[in-house]
Parts: sequence; structure tokens; C-alpha cells
Amino acid sequence: MDEPMKVRGLGLMSGGLDSMLAVRVLQDQQIEMTGITFETPFFGPEGAQQAASQLEIPLRVVDIGESHLEMLKNPKYGYGSQMNPCIDCHALMLRTAGKIMEAEGFDFLATGEVLGQRPMSQRKDALKAVDKLSGYGGYILRPLSAKLLWQTIPEELGKVDRQRLLDIHGRSRKRQMALAADYGIKEYPSPGGGCILTKAGFADRLRDLFTTQENVGLHDVELLKWGRHLRLPSGRRVVVGRAHADNVRLQELARGEDLVLRVKGVPGPTGLMAAEASAQEVELAANIVAAYSDVETGKKAVVEVTGKEDRKIRVNTPPKEEFRELLV
Ligand code: SF4
Repeated sequence: MDEPMKVRGLGLMSGGLDSMLAVRVLQDQQIEMTGITFETPFFGPEGAQQAASQLEIPLRVVDIGESHLEMLKNPKYGYGSQMNPCIDCHALMLRTAGKIMEAEGFDFLATGEVLGQRPMSQRKDALKAVDKLSGYGGYILRPLSAKLLWQTIPEELGKVDRQRLLDIHGRSRKRQMALAADYGIKEYPSPGGGCILTKAGFADRLRDLFTTQENVGLHDVELLKWGRHLRLPSGRRVVVGRAHADNVRLQELARGEDLVLRVKGVPGPTGLMAAEASAQEVELAANIVAAYSDVETGKKAVVEVTGKEDRKIRVNTPPKEEFRELLV
């Protein structure tokens, strides 16, 4: 006799407890689960990788940086408390996962969303909006709250037993904690971490970038994560390392003829600016780099500029307070 066809689900993994529990609840029905997670400059796969290895399921990591950034510039449902466009972001992830589901014969998509847990993105109308925007509405199962939600296609087809799904809602985490204990899940990050679009300082910088620069690309947003950002009176941006890791990363992020500035022979930050900078802009940037270095205020410093053209600029090191109002 032929074995019955295995039901296969593709579970979106954030790395948080809820998406782990969603997988476990479905595995209880002998459904074969594969995880999928996404990568952009704003969040990475690390949490999901740990979660998947704890659950012992395979995990797909999909880079959606380009499409996520385009969405982020003008999200249909707007932003949350910072620059997090959670409804559009979920829809994009589900659309991406949905295409893989279709191409590879998975039966449905699953998420760890819990009705009412987050004010903006997990209300019933928001979940409906995500379903519609993703284009895969009927195939999106939310096992932790499924009994409180509409029936999905895998339930209608008898591939998933609705009776064995859950009815969790609200912000309390008590039932999730109890389930985690039942399933022996011991390690999981606290909810809500991981996405820097929810962090106020980063969101301020991103807002500023979107309002002051056209054609923002992935390189621009990657740069936002590092160092101090100063906008010169001309509008040109200079990035100055705050710590050793910033300096290393800024050096790596310098493209082609971009200008890299360093004070000669003295510990201090790496500065980075676009190759198109004018001579006056480079001069000002050299003063800024010197100001943030270990050279004493008022003492002479030599700033080495490499990139489009190599040169040395001599400056009288100004106090860094002089540049405070240029900080973004
Ligand atoms: S918190 Fe970040 S990763 Fe999560 S849905 Fe919102 S924008 Fe997307």
C-alpha cells in the first residue's frame, strides 16, 4: 500500500518563541515542517537559525533586502511606533514565502502570530490586511490563534486538524510559557528584539536619510548602522567611526573612489564620504575627523585622505562641540 502523502508546511521563523511554538503545534499533527526566515540590513537570520537548530528542522534563509527597502520607502499601511512597517513587512515575507510554497509543493504557510499581541500588526483587521496584501490569504495558518480566526484552505482540505490548533490571544505570555515548558523549549530571545527599524535612534537616522536623499539604496542604509553621521551645511554626509568596530566596517563599506579619512599617527576615527565631495567639504570633514581623534584641541594634526585622490590635509584640531549641530 502507498504511504499517505505527507503534509508539508513552511513556517516563518523570527527566532522568537511564538514561531517555535507554531512549528511544534503543527509537528504534533505529524506535519513536516520547514522553516523560512529573511534577511535585510535591518534584521538577520541569526535568531531563526538558533531556533531551527533547537527544533531540528531545516531552515531557508532568503535575502529580501532590495524589495524590503523599496517597500520601506512607502509602505501601504504606514509605520508603527518607529520606522517599522510591520503590516507591509509581514505581507512581503508571506508573499516571498508563498512563491516558494507554490514552486516547491508545500501545502501551506504558518506564522507564530498571536491575535491581539501587538497593537498594530496583530489585530484581526491587520491580519486580514496582511493576508490580502501577500496574495496568499487562504494559505496562511496561525496555529497559536487559529481557533479564533477564519478557516484556512489547509484546514478546509483536512490537511490540518483545526481542533488541535490553539486559541491564544492577547499580550499575556503565560500560555506560551507553559507550552514552551511542555515542549522542552528552554532558549528563546525576548519578543520584539532584533529589528532595528523599531529602535528610536536608528529610525531617526533613516527618516532623515529618506527626507534628504533621493534614490536611497542598500549601501546607504547599511552605512546608517555605523558610526556618527554628520550632515555638512552643503548637505553632504560624513560618517565618522565611534569605536574600532565602526572604523573597520566603514573601511569595508568604502566603495570605489569613496574618500576615507584618518588622522596620521594618532588613534582616532575613520571618516567616510562620497567621492564627489568638493575640496571645501573634504577640508571640513578632515577637521571633524581630527576633532574626534585623540589629538588635543588646538594642536596640529595631519589627516590622510585616500580614495579618488590621495592627499594630506593639515588642520588645527577644533573642539568636537563645534560640530554638534551637524550630527544627524
Ligand atoms: S518588527 Fe521589523 S521585521 Fe518585524 S514585522 Fe516589523 S518591520 Fe518587519
